[in-house]
Amino acid sequence: MTINQNFQQLKSSYLFANIGKKVREYQAAHPGADIIRLGIGDVTRPLPQASIEAMHSAVDDMSRAETFVGYPTDYGLHFLEDAIQADYALRGVKLDLDEIFLSDGAKSDTGNIGDILGTDNIVAVCDPVYPVYVDTNVMAGRKITLLPCNAESDFAPPLPTEHADIVYLCSPNNPTGTAMNATQLQAWVDWANAHGSLLLFDGAYEAFITEDLPRSIYEIPGARTCAIEFRSFSKTAGFTGVRCAYTVIPKELMVDGASVNALWGRRQATKFNGVSYITQRGAEATFTPDGRAQVQATIAYYLNNAKTIRNALADAGFQVWGGVNSPYIWFAAKQGMGSWELFDLLLNEAQVVGTPGSGFGPAGEGYFRLTGFGTAERTVEAVERIRGRLG
Ligand code: PLP
Repeated sequence: MTINQNFQQLKSSYLFANIGKKVREYQAAHPGADIIRLGIGDVTRPLPQASIEAMHSAVDDMSRAETFVGYPTDYGLHFLEDAIQADYALRGVKLDLDEIFLSDGAKSDTGNIGDILGTDNIVAVCDPVYPVYVDTNVMAGRKITLLPCNAESDFAPPLPTEHADIVYLCSPNNPTGTAMNATQLQAWVDWANAHGSLLLFDGAYEAFITEDLPRSIYEIPGARTCAIEFRSFSKTAGFTGVRCAYTVIPKELMVDGASVNALWGRRQATKFNGVSYITQRGAEATFTPDGRAQVQATIAYYLNNAKTIRNALADAGFQVWGGVNSPYIWFAAKQGMGSWELFDLLLNEAQVVGTPGSGFGPAGEGYFRLTGFGTAERTVEAVERIRGRLG
């Protein structure tokens, strides 16, 4: 018996364990301390009312033999794919229904997509990065190269200078909160088509875009032959606990002479039995006029928190990114301070908890991430403390 030895190569998930340990120690030493957590990457607002109603009604469907739904994949229902297709069409992106694959999460899909790709491919990821892209490829034994992103280019990922078969892009970005414009995305699409490389485009935060920027990689000419797009209802509509996402694979996309769309369809049909009917009804409701308005209101709430944090940090003299097209605010520690030093300073002086940038990759050292996913009241309280004590 052997195990997959690649798992031995994984770095321990030191980041959140260490944050938890430090907070517990601080609390033990300061029992009355009122700690505000702005490190969270999870949503906190309730689901849109339209989704709640649709899910209640879907439960009723399940209570009657005539409207009952079993394995969703066997029922030929594609009301959610229809709604997603129509949503893309609003941005001028034309997709066939069988180019849209529903799933339980962008986390699963960005990792599982590796099942259909050779383990000898070289994978490039941005540094700093959402750790799932790295760990899932370490599990598969792929070689990973880093694309260091820096303040000079506002954390836009540089085109690879060495060979890369697969590149993960995330825009708006977690953790830096920055979003790529059409020119930058076009450069990536042109590069991928010229090199026969595959772009794995994570658009989990597209709903937070407020500026005139592309929301889908398929708004960029040429993307259909080189890119897969991942999207999720998690951050868009508060579905982190419900679980629903989708991946788009155009039929033109060929790797090694094989249709990626067909391979992924085969993979999913074998390993995945579909998104629950009740969940799909809840997700469908986010595309109704009421649902859209409710989703927008919640996103505006988080973005307002992000703006509050961004402005306060700027007032306190920090250099800040993100928070405009993203719930994430990324900022530089002052005077060469390290990410963990800043973590300790914020915890000790302001009782505010965030996420050290170094936890997202070596290029994150000296940076820090806060999020707009808290409550408005606690966010205001946190920034008053930061302004008063660190400004
Ligand atoms: N992609 C990025 C960049 C994320 O930050 C997250 C969650 O934090 C996900 C994907 C996960 O999305 P889901 O909840 O759909 O699995």
